[in-house]
Amino acid sequence: MDIHEYQAREIFRRAGIPVPPGEVASTSAEVRQIADGLGGAVVVKAQVHAGGRGKAGGVKLAKSPAEAGSHAAEILGMRIKGLTVERVLVTPAEDIVSEAYLGVLIDRANHAPLFIASRAGGIDIEEVARKTPEKVRRLHVDPRYGLLPHQAYWIADFLYDDPSHIQQGARIVGQLWRAFREAGASMAEINPLIVTPRGEVKAIDAKVSIDDNELFRKPDIAKYRDTSSEPAAERQAREAGLSYVKLDGDVGCCVNGAGLAMATMDLVHHYGAEPANFLDIGGSSNPDKVVTALQIITSDPSVKVILFNIFGGITRCDDVANGIVEATRRIQIDIPIVIRLTGTNEQLALRILEDAGFTAYTSMDEVVKEAVGLTRAA
Ligand code: GDP
Ligand code: MN
Repeated sequence: MDIHEYQAREIFRRAGIPVPPGEVASTSAEVRQIADGLGGAVVVKAQVHAGGRGKAGGVKLAKSPAEAGSHAAEILGMRIKGLTVERVLVTPAEDIVSEAYLGVLIDRANHAPLFIASRAGGIDIEEVARKTPEKVRRLHVDPRYGLLPHQAYWIADFLYDDPSHIQQGARIVGQLWRAFREAGASMAEINPLIVTPRGEVKAIDAKVSIDDNELFRKPDIAKYRDTSSEPAAERQAREAGLSYVKLDGDVGCCVNGAGLAMATMDLVHHYGAEPANFLDIGGSSNPDKVVTALQIITSDPSVKVILFNIFGGITRCDDVANGIVEATRRIQIDIPIVIRLTGTNEQLALRILEDAGFTAYTSMDEVVKEAVGLTRAA
């Protein structure tokens, strides 16, 4: 789950990281008022779940409350990476001597959290890492022991020369580690981590992604969810207990079980097409879930054919068959549906589908070939 900068700043503050104050507003008049209260120059920052807001014109410095108001009028309603800006953060403008990058994320390949630090902050860290890897320091944290003090110093020492900056930096590395752990984050980053003319090290941007599997035990974090920033299909899927990920292909896949869903996507690719989505309808499927799944798949205009692949274990094939029949009664579907069902109550399911005019398959290979063929014909 992605959260907004102002929410990530709250998490950082709770962990002790120095973060300038700020307030969120949704109108230009409010922004003027907040800027007035902060007294002096401010930054107006779009709050959307997208990086690179600065480049897109979503971060603007203002010298006066009036200027802050007019910047807000421009930023509010702006679209950044397909998302509409509904709120802005207003925060005092800081004078900047240097901008560094400091982040920690889960490195799945190495089964450990990974700190990444660079003096070349403020800009695209992926590009820095690619073009000038020597400008990036990486450190894996052994999850058994957590971050050790000397490791925090080793990172801060890479970022700064001045002992005071190193000391402040090392403290922030430790605090970022705590913030990352306490929030159940999969990623937490400060970009930029600045040094001010007075020699203070502080975070003026905050980005945190939360591991969805942590949310059930972190109610304070779960309430940060902003459903207006989520794609409608993903919200609908989550609320119905389905796991759905939109992809770029045109074969809409509806499968039970994550493993079978992945295997189905691989087979679609193998026969020369690409899946439009990952969708796992879960272990026990009631007809309503199938209806929702079909609504979600058909709301994607790039889907040319719908492919069901059901392995009946706990899931009963007849439940899925009834769901498909009911869904096609409730919603108009103008594209072909191909179905493979095997396992529990398979015979019953095949009969239900045939009575309703569908052709059902029991072979996964055949049904995927058929789906790919229909995609080409469409
Ligand atoms: P992002 O583009 O979404 O990562 O937004 P950031 O908050 O990182 O802002 C982008 C850039 O705007 C920063 O790298 C800074 O160069 C600049 N910026 C942001 N806040 C301030 C500020 O308070 N003072 C100054 N001088 N520049 C700022
Ligand atoms: Mn940034």
